[in-house]
Amino acid sequence: MADETRTSGPGESSGGSESRGPRGGGRPGGGPREGGGGRKYFRRKKVCKFCVEKIESINYKDVRLLGQFVAESGKIVPRRLTGVCTPHQRRLSTAIKQARNIALLPFAGRA
Ligand SMILES: [Zn+2]
Repeated sequence: MADETRTSGPGESSGGSESRGPRGGGRPGGGPREGGGGRKYFRRKKVCKFCVEKIESINYKDVRLLGQFVAESGKIVPRRLTGVCTPHQRRLSTAIKQARNIALLPFAGRA
């Protein structure tokens, strides 16, 4: 269940000869930072999107919706950033996990 547990080998060797290729961060081109202070997320009042739109059940097939709450890395964006309320965040994460299971969304930490 916990896909965040990394099974790192016994003992991290301090010798740095073991490098496994480039880290799989899907960053094509690697754009430069956005100039100025980049606040990307909703900077409005943080109101739960689902409460506002009165979405009670979150459909796990709605990838476009779920995608808004999944970071590029595949991780679920914490609700501190999205403003989603706790009960909805819970449903959201459940939906995201279901979506992952049917390969609609990537798993976190995979690259
Ligand atoms: Zn809500």
